[in-house]
Amino acid sequence: MRILTGTLMHETNTFNERPTTLEDFHPLIGQELFEHAFWRGNAESTGGIVETLQVEGAEVIPSVHAVAMVSGTVVDEAYEEIKRGVLAAVRAAGPLDGICFCLHGSMCAKSVLDPEGDLMSAIREEVGPRLPIVCTLDMHAKATDLLLASVNAFTVFRTAPHTDRYDCGERAAELLLRIIRRKLEVVTVAARLPLLLCGENSMTTVQPMRDLIAEVYETGREKHVLNAEYALGFPWADTPHHSVSALVCGEAAELEALTDTALRMAGRLWEKREQFRFSEETYSLDEAIDVALREAEGPVVVSDTGDNPTAGASSDLTGMLERLLQRGVDRALVAVIADPASFAACREAGSGATLELALGRRRPDSVEPFAARVEVRSVHSGLDASGHSKERCDAAVVRIGGVDVIVAERRIAVYDPAYLAQLGLRPGDYRLIAVKSGYLSPGYRAMGTRSLFALTPGQTAIELDKLRYERLTSPIYPQQLDTVWNRDEERERMLGMFKGRRK
Ligand SMILES: [Zn+2]
Repeated sequence: MRILTGTLMHETNTFNERPTTLEDFHPLIGQELFEHAFWRGNAESTGGIVETLQVEGAEVIPSVHAVAMVSGTVVDEAYEEIKRGVLAAVRAAGPLDGICFCLHGSMCAKSVLDPEGDLMSAIREEVGPRLPIVCTLDMHAKATDLLLASVNAFTVFRTAPHTDRYDCGERAAELLLRIIRRKLEVVTVAARLPLLLCGENSMTTVQPMRDLIAEVYETGREKHVLNAEYALGFPWADTPHHSVSALVCGEAAELEALTDTALRMAGRLWEKREQFRFSEETYSLDEAIDVALREAEGPVVVSDTGDNPTAGASSDLTGMLERLLQRGVDRALVAVIADPASFAACREAGSGATLELALGRRRPDSVEPFAARVEVRSVHSGLDASGHSKERCDAAVVRIGGVDVIVAERRIAVYDPAYLAQLGLRPGDYRLIAVKSGYLSPGYRAMGTRSLFALTPGQTAIELDKLRYERLTSPIYPQQLDTVWNRDEERERMLGMFKGRRK
């Protein structure tokens, strides 16, 4: 059996003006994938796809593996180059039995607002209507009509924070093998809701997502269903497509039953729309600092939610730092301000030096840096930014007043506490650790005596009713609280999509 694979993973934050380029993707072409071990284990769904297929004795043909950290809109040339590479691999692959592709589902290029749909429809055109195609998606994916029309089935992350990437790939590979071996003609339908969610109000460890995900597992066991999933969309992208969908996949002959199952799943989620609350105690910045300082034992971990690089923000805002300094807070740590020029200055000055820095940006709508006199405590190189990263991220630890600040050469996800250990920092030394994050990784959550969200401004501000969109379809909840979801109209639309396609 011969299966082509590939990876296109990027969550695009269109509010971040800095464009994402081809270099940010570090593309691996063809067999280069097998020379790198980083994707194995839990890092990406690609690991689950490749290893599962290999165990089953399939020949895996890699096309392009392109993964970039969440950031601004992708330049057209980058997307076109990746697409060209994938299509060239498809053409050169010879006879295939199926395709299993790892996608994010919330990517956006300058001129192509739905690159995943565009790529998959181009592949479909190459391989014809019969070849089974299964894709993995991030939980924060949009499921567009073009994507659904081009791909037979999807598996989606069922955890946020995403700890099941590998399993998701494994499930996709198993689903594809089942479709091929049983020669099934499979479709996926998506019931969409006019609803915006963000990771911070839809963690799967808390309600209502915990129950909804439990129901996903139950629905997946129903007789006519091959797989069922929720895709929750991504709010920090201004495209027409972002919304919440319930995806149900099964045999094409069961179209009506699949449609009704997806509508039932969507309906359950819609009924609970007012229950999606922030998963941590949430305060204004000053209140969050007050609450943290009242705690007898630290560290209290405070998320600087508006400047969260794991959702695509620039991670260079100094608002939190400035407030801590103005209030004279001591034994505090700010992790991490991304500023290559300031890092270079610290490296140049060396450990123990005192110097003036023009650090980061003071406000989201300006480029004015924060002028500060800092003492360089330590400078580090060759750091592994996270347990599964291909990227090195060097950094310096500087002290301003009673606050330590990690100044990094680039944006990194504040995900793995091992990064602090590499910098020689001990969480227990601090009463307050401010992190550029939304919801915390399991490691950071375990580190704090208490976790708080601070409502701070930035490219990932979590008050979704206050975001300003130009392209997003409206009305949409909670931007318009009286938004109505019409189940019957949605049913018509879903069935209409497949009219004329059935043979
Ligand atoms: Zn996600």
